[in-house]
Amino acid sequence: MNKKGLLVVVSAPAGCGKDTILECAFEACNNLHYSVSVTTRKARPSEEEGIHYFFKTREEFEQMIQKKELLEYTEYDGNFYGTPRKYIPEMLEAGKNVVLKIEVEGAENIKRIYPDCVRVFILPPSFEELERRLRKRGTETEETIKNRVGIAKIEMSFVKNYDYVIINADIEEAVKDFTAIVQAERLSAKRGIPVIS
Ligand code: 5GP
Repeated sequence: MNKKGLLVVVSAPAGCGKDTILECAFEACNNLHYSVSVTTRKARPSEEEGIHYFFKTREEFEQMIQKKELLEYTEYDGNFYGTPRKYIPEMLEAGKNVVLKIEVEGAENIKRIYPDCVRVFILPPSFEELERRLRKRGTETEETIKNRVGIAKIEMSFVKNYDYVIINADIEEAVKDFTAIVQAERLSAKRGIPVIS
């Protein structure tokens, strides 16, 4: 039976280790694919066009909004972020499991459009640790660090809307948790019963 792909929406305050967890999970599970977002944020040194984001100017982003090319979009810490409309349905139809890294309001919007999606929230062990990790990253200004910790505290009130919560105290454990969620949801009978002969 050709099952449709699973849409996994992952939210996490910046600095939670979400990218590392997902990188390891992608190595451990085959058939996970990113939906690459569009952003007006400047690329960090390690980021590549089309792999981490599609980097756009504000004008280009506004044109995409006008042409209805975005499924949802939001402003976060002074930059715009949006999900391209075209890739997700194509990938799901082809049976691919799609991972969408998105902040809490975007996750709410995606749930309305794709009620079957699975939402996972990744938490740091503490706010102190979150701030330490953001500082260690060395790519953010002091103002951005403070803003992002402030946003993280607001985002916490959305955790109850998610299906699963992972605490990233230990990266290996967090990766195991994430892959277990994907595996269990893929096997869930509510997503389709395989036909055997
Ligand atoms: P960062 O600048 O750290 O890469 O991302 C900032 C925040 O924007 C993160 O919470 C990230 O998950 C979120 N984000 C990334 N892409 C999208 C998107 O397409 N839509 C929405 N709503 N949020 C996004």
